[in-house]
Amino acid sequence: MQNHRDDLEKKIVILGAGPTGLGAAYRLQELGYRNWSIYDRNNYVGGLATSFVDAAGFTYDIGGHVMFSHYKYFDDLVDKLLGDNYTEIMREAWVWMMDRFVPYPFQNNIRYLPPDVVLECVMGLIEAQKTPERIAEATNFDSLIDAQFGAGIAKYFMKPYNFKVWAHPITHMSRDWLGERVAIPSLERILKNILSDGDDVGWGPNNKFKYPLYGGTGGLYTPFLKYVGDHLALNKNVVAVDEESKQVFFSDGDIVEYDLLLTTMPLDLLVNRMYHAPEQVRDATEGLHHSSGLIVGVGVNRPCPSEKCWLYFPESTSPFYRVTYLSNYSPYIVPDNDHFLLLTETSSSEHKPEDPTTIIDRVINGLINVRLLEPSDLDRIVTTYLIEVDYSYPVPTIDRNRSLATIQPYLHHHDIYSRGRFGAWEYEIGNMDHSVMQGVELVNYWLLGEKESTWKDFAEHSKIISLLNSQPQFKAKVGHGHVVGEQYSFRPNGAHVVAD
Ligand SMILES: Cc1cc2nc3c(=O)[nH]c(=O)nc-3n(C[C@H](O)[C@H](O)[C@H](O)COP(=O)(O)OP(=O)(O)OC[C@H]3O[C@@H](n4cnc5c(N)ncnc54)[C@H](O)[C@@H]3O)c2cc1C
Repeated sequence: MQNHRDDLEKKIVILGAGPTGLGAAYRLQELGYRNWSIYDRNNYVGGLATSFVDAAGFTYDIGGHVMFSHYKYFDDLVDKLLGDNYTEIMREAWVWMMDRFVPYPFQNNIRYLPPDVVLECVMGLIEAQKTPERIAEATNFDSLIDAQFGAGIAKYFMKPYNFKVWAHPITHMSRDWLGERVAIPSLERILKNILSDGDDVGWGPNNKFKYPLYGGTGGLYTPFLKYVGDHLALNKNVVAVDEESKQVFFSDGDIVEYDLLLTTMPLDLLVNRMYHAPEQVRDATEGLHHSSGLIVGVGVNRPCPSEKCWLYFPESTSPFYRVTYLSNYSPYIVPDNDHFLLLTETSSSEHKPEDPTTIIDRVINGLINVRLLEPSDLDRIVTTYLIEVDYSYPVPTIDRNRSLATIQPYLHHHDIYSRGRFGAWEYEIGNMDHSVMQGVELVNYWLLGEKESTWKDFAEHSKIISLLNSQPQFKAKVGHGHVVGEQYSFRPNGAHVVAD
């Protein structure tokens, strides 16, 4: 092992045994480094990518987890951890609206909608394309959607769906998380699909993802224990960090010293638990917004009536924004073939309150409204399961980048590295592959001196973005893809991301 710092026999401490912490831990072991430990407040590993099994034998993920990878290292690691114990699923998505299924991407398949709605969508797009400069001028996600898709597609799908997912007014959301590239929908392609009655879907034979055969999504993370278990302590809840004396305090009274700290706990909570963070840094947490999630699973005693994977729900006929036929991912999700499991996701926030005490009933009614369940299924529901998630989505709001550019340099100055879905607080690098790799790359930086590539220095990154935006020739370059929130988005480097 080559250390790029001559001072490495430093004590490395990792807070959080989710994908980011486990990725870092695995890499430390792989490089032969031994002076480290990892802590989690839960009594299990996997964080948000864990799974739970109920007494009836159904397995629940914390929302549908689609494994997607942009990294060879991650692919190889998945192969090593899962071996042959995986299934392969077609990345197939649908939208339910106006009492019908529309293949995703929505805008390419509007021919499924009533003729007056098709006309409204097409006319809106034609109108929008008369002023393409509005795409570059859009100052937030809301105005970007109008400029990019036109009034019809915005009204029927993009705006209601995105509010349902993010639980924040989309006028509060920035356009930065989509990167510099923004797709202009092809009017020609849309018209061709309408006139030729052709489906234009985002999935195809090569569009598959792996899913653990056993244990749900969490089945990918429990095998890490074999490699990192000796350094792991569970049920360790961090209550404070003294960044001057470099100590972490746990609720059970234990104190641990570190030289280098990787933390994956939510960034706002970390900062507010630090002893010396200046007011400016504490205040910056006000710019970090997140949604919460109510994940409800419904197990039904009959063979699965559909081969679909997941569906989006933009309308108010259901509380959820997405439903996954989780039992189609692996036969071991349910007790036997005579059962199926629907996993629903509902978001909430101060802008979109949801009552957890009524959510299961509302979800079941919603499933009947959208015809995923028949009224006669009410007698066949054998189990329901509610997972309440405090921190579900880090929302890319307009004030986010400024906050990160204030907080992260302060942390780095104190040898604290906040990474992962809520550690970095960057949705665009918040999937499982990004998270594992943020951990791996940080260790590569510490031990090998390699620059991190998934996580970018935000102060530096913000400077680059504003520099680009001040030069008109770099604005709003055209890529291809779709803006939906979870399944399809653009990364700053312009790559087409399909996951989460
Ligand atoms: C609804 C939903 C759907 C998703 N869908 C997808 C998908 O389709 N595809 C995909 O790739 N990804 C998906 N994700 C994202 C995926 O779950 C994350 O990428 C991943 O879990 C992030 O890993 P992490 O380690 O950064 O954070 P986490 O998983 O949040 O892990 C952080 C860990 O820190 C611990 N911790 C927090 N506070 C403390 C404390 N005070 N003391 C000690 N420990 C603490 C937590 O217990 C946790 O184990 C989804 C997430 C959600 C919520």
